[in-house]
Amino acid sequence: MNKNTIVMPALEDRVSDFGYGYRMRCECGAVSSLSAEDYYAEKDEAHMPCEHCPRSIHFGRAVAALRDEHDPALDNTRINTFAWYHTSTLADWPLAVDAVTRRTELAANAHLFHLPADHIERLVNNELNKALHVGTYGAAIENMLRRIRNQRDDPTAFYLHRVALQISPDRVNTGYRDENHEPVSQMTTMDLRAEGLDAVRYVNVYESMGSISLAVLPETIAWVQTLGLPISGLTPAHNAPLVEMLNRVQHQLDALRTCKPDTSAIRPSELRLMQLRGDPGPDGIAAASAAHGQSVRELHSEVTAALNQQYLTGISPRIADNFNSAIKWRSGQTASQFADFFAASAVALTRPDAVVTQLASRQPRPAHLGIASASDVSDPPSRAT
Ligand SMILES: [Zn+2]
Repeated sequence: MNKNTIVMPALEDRVSDFGYGYRMRCECGAVSSLSAEDYYAEKDEAHMPCEHCPRSIHFGRAVAALRDEHDPALDNTRINTFAWYHTSTLADWPLAVDAVTRRTELAANAHLFHLPADHIERLVNNELNKALHVGTYGAAIENMLRRIRNQRDDPTAFYLHRVALQISPDRVNTGYRDENHEPVSQMTTMDLRAEGLDAVRYVNVYESMGSISLAVLPETIAWVQTLGLPISGLTPAHNAPLVEMLNRVQHQLDALRTCKPDTSAIRPSELRLMQLRGDPGPDGIAAASAAHGQSVRELHSEVTAALNQQYLTGISPRIADNFNSAIKWRSGQTASQFADFFAASAVALTRPDAVVTQLASRQPRPAHLGIASASDVSDPPSRAT
């Protein structure tokens, strides 16, 4: 059967909100609930009472439990009926870049660590043959925020993919793995094949903590729809008080720019040291520069606070924090450019249904089975198509 002649199956989208709470496992083995607000309020001490015994639970990722014990994705026969999601900076994911090029790049980087040749070979092979990961809409969006924050990926360069899987129900692990005890993120396609599996189901403790994700063989990805993020069409116009504030702040920033102290005679590292020591520097230039920077930061904070109030209502404070560390005021952006980008990006959190509706109306493309990877170059996988 030619894959191109059949259509993408209708899939069920299960779009969760971003105000969800958590479930944490106690040493007694039982699980207790924790609201998003309580998680945030107690995050420094991270203690909560167990609902089943007198102990207190030191909560966090390490004891995060499956959020919904009746999660329908626990049913192997339903996996192919759901839409799964993934965010990537690659528009044509899961098509990998040319394996030979990628292998050369990876090997060149690995050589920097002065490792033995067979070790490098193994690292490169594992990297080229990683299992692919799909999860809930929430997990995909939170993954993007984490990548922008931790890997400094460009916030304007992401795509959201909606995926149809073709997995044999008898080739999925029973129950689910706990990422804390059985790390799944580094799993390779060789690992999956060795276990006779198409997919490993696991509880994601990094993104959308407590949701179900899957590590899958590339050839199980049948269809993909793709949407560039953020989408602009869903953003309402800023209201009048916000527009007024943005104009005023921009005015103040422009004024500050004209009186920025000239520190070009001092090396940046030296200037920083003076400021850390509280040394005003020659002619008070270090102090003046610090005060100037502080004024700019205060204006940025004022705008960010207003945008949070306007555009992140109902979002769990922990996720709002992650959003704010990812979507920051970048140098060169005007107040309204930042506000526009913030509002457009927030739509992925506040209007998931609208985003998924747009995504689901995109032209589906059949995923190319058997992605060009190291093993495929020499030994193309046989597949029934
Ligand atoms: Zn307990």
